Amino acid sequence: MNSKTETLVIGGGIIGIFSALQLLRSGQRVSLLESGDPGKEASFGNAGCLAVSEVVPISLPGMLRHVPGWLMDPLGPLSIRARHFPKLVPWLMRFNQMGNDAQVEKASRAQADLMKLTESEWRETSNNSNFADQVTWNGKLMVYETQKGMENDRGYWEWCQKNGVEFHELSGDEIRQMEPALTTRFAGGILTPAYAHVSDPYEIARTLLDRFVAEGGTVITARARHFADSHSLLLENGGTIAFEKAVIAAGVWSKKLANDLGYKVLLEAERGYNTTLPNAGLKLNRPIMFGEQHFVISPLACGLRIGGAAEFAGLSAPANFQRSKNLLKIAKKYLPELDETEKREWMGPRPSTPDSLAVIGQAPRHPNILFAFGHGHLGLTQAAGTARLVQQLANGEKPAIDLSPFSIERFN
Ligand SMILES: Cc1cc2nc3c(=O)[nH]c(=O)nc-3n(C[C@H](O)[C@H](O)[C@H](O)COP(=O)(O)OP(=O)(O)OC[C@H]3O[C@@H](n4cnc5c(N)ncnc54)[C@H](O)[C@@H]3O)c2cc1C
Repeated sequence: MNSKTETLVIGGGIIGIFSALQLLRSGQRVSLLESGDPGKEASFGNAGCLAVSEVVPISLPGMLRHVPGWLMDPLGPLSIRARHFPKLVPWLMRFNQMGNDAQVEKASRAQADLMKLTESEWRETSNNSNFADQVTWNGKLMVYETQKGMENDRGYWEWCQKNGVEFHELSGDEIRQMEPALTTRFAGGILTPAYAHVSDPYEIARTLLDRFVAEGGTVITARARHFADSHSLLLENGGTIAFEKAVIAAGVWSKKLANDLGYKVLLEAERGYNTTLPNAGLKLNRPIMFGEQHFVISPLACGLRIGGAAEFAGLSAPANFQRSKNLLKIAKKYLPELDETEKREWMGPRPSTPDSLAVIGQAPRHPNILFAFGHGHLGLTQAAGTARLVQQLANGEKPAIDLSPFSIERFN
C-alpha cells in the first residue's frame, strides 16, 4: 500500500489519538497509523487518574536510599530483571543525576506548566465532545497508616507546595468521613483537590477515536518500520506513506523511530501491574493512594482497579502477574471484604524518561516531524495538553508553554 497524507500521527495510544483529533479540528487532513488495536497498549488498563497535581519528578533527592530495600523484596514496588540491567545503566545514571534540588525544581516547574494546560484542555474537550460525564473531578486521597509514613513523604509535599499544588492534611476521622468504605484506622492523609478520575481509560481513548473518525480522520492499520526520509515512512507490510508532517506518538516504541532519524533518547518500558475487580462490592469516591505501600485503588466504572509497581525488564520479557496478585493481597489487608470474582489482571509499559518529563517538540533537524512520547506515569493526564501543543506546533503557532525542558536535545 502506498498512500499520501498531509499529517501522519504514528501510534494510536491516548497521546496519538488525542493529538490526531486536535490536528484534525485545526483543519489538517490527518491519518492515524496504528499497528494493532488503537488504545490497547499502555493506554488500555492504566489507573485512569487525571493526576494534574503530580508535578514533582520521581527522582527526588534521597529517593535512591530506598532503592536497595525495594529491590530486596522480589514483589516490592520496584524491580529490575538482572538480564536487563546492563541496558538500563545509562537511564539509571541520568535518573541519579536528576536527584538534586536544582533539577527537581526545573522539572517541577516545567511539569506544572504542562499540568495547568492539560487540566484546562481536559475540561474543554470533555465538554465540547460530550464526555464530561466520564470524568469526575473529585480529588485524590493519599492515606498513611503511621505518622512516620507521613513524615517520610514530607519532602515530596514541600515540593508540591513550592509549585503551587493545593492540598489539605486530614485526620484519620476525616478520612473515614470522606471514604466510609476505608475501615482501617489511618494516622492521617492528604487530599489533593485538583485531580480527576475517568470512567475507564480505554473507553476515553475509544470515545476520542470515534470523534476523530466521525469528523473525517483516517485510521491506517499497519506497523511503521522506519523513515525512508523526512517525508516518507516505510511500513512492515512493504508499503510506504508519504506525509508533509508527522508526529511520533508510539509510546515506548517511539525510541526506535527517533533513533532512525538520528536522535538519541533515554526511554524505558517501566512496566506496571494491576487487577480490576468488576464486582468489588464497595464504593470509593476518589482514587486512594496508600503512602507506605505505594499502590493506588481507582474507582472506575469497570470496577475497582488496584495497582502500581515499577518493573524494568525490557519490552519483551513475559509479564510476572505475581505482582498484580501481591498488590491485591496488600489491598485486602485494608479492604478484606473485596470481592475478587471475575477479576482481570493487566500489565502495561509506561514510556518513561529518567527526568519524568515527556519528549514534546519539533525534531531539531527535521522541523516537519514532531515528538510526543515519553509521558511515563502521566500519559493519560498529559494527553490533552500534549495534543494542544502538537496542534500548535504543527500549525506554526506559538506553543502555550515553554517547551525547552521537553526537548529531545537534553539526550543529544
Ligand atoms: C499500571 C499503570 C497505571 C497507570 N496509571 C496512569 C494514570 O492513572 N494516569 C496517567 O496519566 N497515566 C497512567 N499511566 C501511564 C499511561 O498509561 C501512559 O503514559 C500512556 O498510556 C502512554 O500513552 P501513549 O499513547 O504514549 O502509549 P501507548 O498507549 O503505549 O500507545 C502507543 C501506540 O503506538 C503503537 N505503535 C507502536 N509502535 C508502532 C509502530 N511502529 N507503528 C504503528 N504503531 C505503533 C502501539 O501499538 C500503541 O497502540 C499508567 C501506566 C501503567 C502501566
